[in-house]
Amino acid sequence: MSRIIGIDLGTTNTVVAFLDSGCPVIVPNAEGGRLTPSVVAFTDGGVVTGSEALRNAGVNPEETIASVKRRMGTSHRFHLRGGIYTPQEISGMILQKVAGDAGTYLGERIDKAVITVPAYFNNEQREATREAGVMAGLEVVRIINEPTAAALAYGLDKEEIHTVLVWDLGGGTFDVSILELGQGVFEVRAVSGDTRLGGDDWDQRLAGHLAGMIETETGIDPFLDKSAVPILKRIAEGAKKTLSDALLSDIDIPLGFRGEGNFAGRNVRARLSREEFEALTAPLLKRLAGPTIQALSDAGLRPIDIDRVILVGGATRMPAVRELARQMFGDSKICHDRINPDEVVAAGAAIQGGILAGEFSDLVLVDVTPLSLGIETQGGVFARIIDRNTRIPVSRNKIFTTAADDQASVSIHVLQGEKDAVSDNMSLGIFDLADIPPAPQGEPKIEVTFNIDVNGILRVSAVDLHTGNEQKIEVAPLHPSASIE
Ligand code: ADP
Ligand code: MG
Repeated sequence: MSRIIGIDLGTTNTVVAFLDSGCPVIVPNAEGGRLTPSVVAFTDGGVVTGSEALRNAGVNPEETIASVKRRMGTSHRFHLRGGIYTPQEISGMILQKVAGDAGTYLGERIDKAVITVPAYFNNEQREATREAGVMAGLEVVRIINEPTAAALAYGLDKEEIHTVLVWDLGGGTFDVSILELGQGVFEVRAVSGDTRLGGDDWDQRLAGHLAGMIETETGIDPFLDKSAVPILKRIAEGAKKTLSDALLSDIDIPLGFRGEGNFAGRNVRARLSREEFEALTAPLLKRLAGPTIQALSDAGLRPIDIDRVILVGGATRMPAVRELARQMFGDSKICHDRINPDEVVAAGAAIQGGILAGEFSDLVLVDVTPLSLGIETQGGVFARIIDRNTRIPVSRNKIFTTAADDQASVSIHVLQGEKDAVSDNMSLGIFDLADIPPAPQGEPKIEVTFNIDVNGILRVSAVDLHTGNEQKIEVAPLHPSASIE
């Protein structure tokens, strides 16, 4: 069986890992980097990806695509240089680059991969991710959840049962997951998060602060010049990273972004302390608490019940984030030293690849569905078919009937949520089962089956048990709790 690599196709960075004698190893890209920016740029010299594309973002932002992951599974189209591209095509270009680089590094053609997605990704987003892989010439042998991959990366050698909380703060998203590990079984108990919170927000906040400083010094708001925005954000990101290791950062901002005015050639210099940076970004840090409390309450757990906390995502390198994790869960529970937080998901994906390739024998993976799923019944009442946090893969069915005499068809309205009233839950799709033979109200038996496969994809079918008539759809479960602030 050929090698199955693991790919963390991140919003900000893409990371590839492979298994070397059972241990995950990060594969460097052609530029020698362990992280490849998930950026694609259309230039005069053709399409470029990774760090080259990221450099292009400053010069030519209109023809540079970043954070394409946010568009996966949507009908969004990118119009560039006369071409029209789907999000999966753009993601496919990123995958092609990293898989190509990995092939060069390993000296063999890479044609199989495990790709990770956030636990809340719906069917369309998972399918789009798979398509992106196919466009890159890869067979996507499995799509797995990022927190599950992180747990795999850390949980391999563990014998005792552990309740683990995964905090994943990446460039643009924050995900909280609670998992149970033990006896070779990894179970996701609950997921929550904030899709609009990530390291970028820390950069943005600091960039705004720097702009204010420049304005004080020069009387000119640098943000009036659009080209200053990426420059200031890049400088802010650099200072943020410095402050993860050092207590002070010296910041040097070149002025005259357009090369004009009295300021060309002049610099604004500042010294920023970690304390000042933390004060400036305290409101962002606070937003980590809400989704964490939500996930705990969904899992029916208190912080004290958590045995270990895994910090995932580059932004968890910030000392304030670690400190908050320590305050919430206790110092001894945090494991963060063994694997780099921005590499742990790829490492876990490589382990899953090894499991699928038969390199390990006794590991099983179990995930859960994050929200209850069901259908609309009479009076706008939501009838649950699969409860929230049920292990997947799962298949559940219930028998329904007609509400009127001689009713010839029923509408199956598929919903996701926790509320009893249909109108308070999210609609995922609707389909009709017709040709029901005339019968008194309540007599026909319509069996509705909800099936979620190992990749988290949901299929709903309805069968008239008298005639055997069947209708089905594939629908898309949505994010559990997008933004709790
Ligand atoms: P994603 O999962 O979104 O692709 P990553 O896990 O690679 O992202 O995290 C990217 C984020 O981590 C960026 O906002 C980056 O600035 C931040 N980051 C990386 N290294 C550090 C560091 N040393 N200190 C603080 N933030 C960091
Ligand atoms: Mg990530």
